[in-house]
Amino acid sequence: MGLKHRHSYESLVQTLKATERHYLPTHTAGTLSVALVYPNLYSLGMSNLGYLTVHRILLTTPGTAVERFFPALEAERPLQPPFYSFETGRPLGDFQIIMFSFSYEGDFDKIPGIFSALGMPVMAKARNRYHPILIAGGAAVASNAEALSLIFDILVPGEAETALPAIMKTLHDEGMEAGALAELPGVWVPATGKQPSAPCAMHNINIQPAYSHIVSSENAFGGAHLIELMRGCPRNCSFCLARAIYQPVRSLHPDRLAEWLDQHPDCHDLGLVAPSLFDHPQIVEIFRMLDRRQIRIRNSSIKWEKLEPELLLILRRSGVTGLTLAPETGSSRLQAAIKKPLHEERFLDCIRRIFAEGFEQLKLYFVTCLPDEDESDQDATVDLIKKTITAAPSPGHLSIAFSLFVPKRHTDWQNRKPATQQQMKKSIRYLKEELNRLSPQLRVNFASPQEALRQSFLSQAGPELALEYAREAEQCQENRLFSKNQFSALDF
Ligand code: SF4
Repeated sequence: MGLKHRHSYESLVQTLKATERHYLPTHTAGTLSVALVYPNLYSLGMSNLGYLTVHRILLTTPGTAVERFFPALEAERPLQPPFYSFETGRPLGDFQIIMFSFSYEGDFDKIPGIFSALGMPVMAKARNRYHPILIAGGAAVASNAEALSLIFDILVPGEAETALPAIMKTLHDEGMEAGALAELPGVWVPATGKQPSAPCAMHNINIQPAYSHIVSSENAFGGAHLIELMRGCPRNCSFCLARAIYQPVRSLHPDRLAEWLDQHPDCHDLGLVAPSLFDHPQIVEIFRMLDRRQIRIRNSSIKWEKLEPELLLILRRSGVTGLTLAPETGSSRLQAAIKKPLHEERFLDCIRRIFAEGFEQLKLYFVTCLPDEDESDQDATVDLIKKTITAAPSPGHLSIAFSLFVPKRHTDWQNRKPATQQQMKKSIRYLKEELNRLSPQLRVNFASPQEALRQSFLSQAGPELALEYAREAEQCQENRLFSKNQFSALDF
């Protein structure tokens, strides 16, 4: 890295550090040094409770020093290697353990660029004891650990709270030998030849809730604190990974939330994290409590069928101006197939109530190219959007986002074929034309077919993925540049 580049990196780090509030002391000295890599943007890493939880566990593990790494601090400025830590500017290759947190399979594609920058072989068998121990975890590893099994020394396909303390203790007590971890629950050491163990998923979120111990005003929640209200989802949508990998469903008790809020008196803005927040059994009680404490609520998608007038009023009073609903499809045939029914009249009534309450923006998520979907299903979706427009003050109050079906492992539809690129393009073209006919004012976005297909490939890929990455790492080294396509998935 040239001096000029390093200087601009350091000044950006200083700027971002100034946006952070820390709720635990940071220390960067210890017997074991861990680099914790979020292979994507700083803003996404600092909004990810999985990444933050791993950081918090390592920070509170005696004898462990942990530093954060983000290969891209900002979307416009992906870093050129070598990579420096966020805390002290120490090079990534200096650490004894490098831990990756993969939230999305697309982030697997960052591996060749990062490894080649370190001069570290992609294939685990080509590395020796002088190389750092490489550990990977996160939702994408829970989804498809096999794809990384020739690359990483240790894979943690389950929840970090149960597996990580035991991993660190064993590495402290027995030395830096991945093999010593093979018998730990929730840990897979592929070199032993054993099959992956069942993921650990019994963490009691009421004893130790997941929350943001570092709050950055640059996080994706506008600088709000974050707390996990529910892990897992009681519903059963055929395509959904969240339901499949977080079992059993656990919810944070309102009393525990109250206790946490008492410990964080400066929290006036709170992001409530849950795959399906409105299915929390005590959501009304929680909203009432946040309302009494005058805490602004930030949440992701809401369940239209659970949007009682009181909840709507509290959301509005807390300063929320826009809401997000996920009807997925307008076709009743496909609603039944994905196990996500939608009662049209009640849905439209909900839209009317939302705007009557003074909300200004409504975002609707749909998915297209579902298995067996045809033009009549797409027409049904267009028809639902048409009716939604009439229930809204104007088309300009709505925005529509279409994702493309990606079959994920462990879901009911893991073996269903994704559409081809041509079919995806055709569906997008058709929907665009039909929606444009409804109103040119309507804002509509579509996921990229190329990225959806890459994601489909990565979520089904097996250990042979390592060979592709090894070849790509060689090319990166030859070009001496961080391959341009490494950051193609940053844009979400
Ligand atoms: S799509 Fe939403 S409601 Fe359905 S299982 Fe997943 S998280 Fe739950």
